[in-house]
Amino acid sequence: MQDERGRILILGGTGEAMKLAAALAARPDLPALLSFAGRTKAPQLPSIPSRIGGFGGVDGLAAYLAQMQTPLVIDATHPFAAQMSQHAAQACARLGVPRLTFTRRPWTPQPGDRWIEVPDIEAAVDALGETPTHVFLTVGRLSLGAFKRAPQHSYLARSIDQPDASELPPSCRVLLARPPFALAEERALMQKERFDFLCTKNSGGAATENKLLAARELGLRVIMVNRPQAPEGETLFDLDAVLDWITAHRPPP
Ligand code: NAP
Repeated sequence: MQDERGRILILGGTGEAMKLAAALAARPDLPALLSFAGRTKAPQLPSIPSRIGGFGGVDGLAAYLAQMQTPLVIDATHPFAAQMSQHAAQACARLGVPRLTFTRRPWTPQPGDRWIEVPDIEAAVDALGETPTHVFLTVGRLSLGAFKRAPQHSYLARSIDQPDASELPPSCRVLLARPPFALAEERALMQKERFDFLCTKNSGGAATENKLLAARELGLRVIMVNRPQAPEGETLFDLDAVLDWITAHRPPP
């Protein structure tokens, strides 16, 4: 515990957090620690120290930051991990700890896209309508349960981890797969399945973008769940810029 004090805290659960952890592993002058929520069944572990599990709300996180003498917090959580980001903003503001968000740029609709943008997952379920349709779900395992209230549709849910049966709507097959996905692979899957909709979250990033390119080519309608409101504060999308920010904000030795 003693040698974990004074480390930069990276809030993770994303590829961005892993990239930052790998970069900081090569920077002994910038010691860091990566925090996972503990949702992934077999997380890849970084080459810097890590911890797993919630902090216990804003108060728990503030107590942790104070106890660990955390100099900086990098919020590299998923853009849809809204609660963790709000907690980080509040705890850092309370203690005066500088905080940066490191995330991916959101996707934006391009000519030829047939997007239906919705504010949240419940609105995505509503957007499918009453008439039975065939839906490609790439919303993440933890959001699949929302579709249980639309059992008239048939679904193919792509997920990294196997969802529990209780988390799935009745007519739902599961495709276990880990990104990245090639364009040819996405196109072939969509042609084989003849989906009526692709339903996805606006996570952004290159690893899962080819599904949108394939949908555009095939004229497939996309129900796009927009990102939740992020807390105010600086956001960077580029690893080198994040490293520069850390260098500029770290406390003097
Ligand atoms: P969330 O709703 O924002 O957070 C729920 C609670 O989980 C938080 O209040 C916190 O518990 C704990 N938590 C979240 N991220 C944590 C972290 N990095 N370290 C320690 N505790 C954390 O988050 P979520 O949407 O359930 O996502 C959970 C994790 O999965 C996140 O780390 C996120 O980056 C990753 N992820 C999420 C999605 C998605 O679509 N939501 C997709 C891919 C990956 P306490 O209040 O007890 O501190």
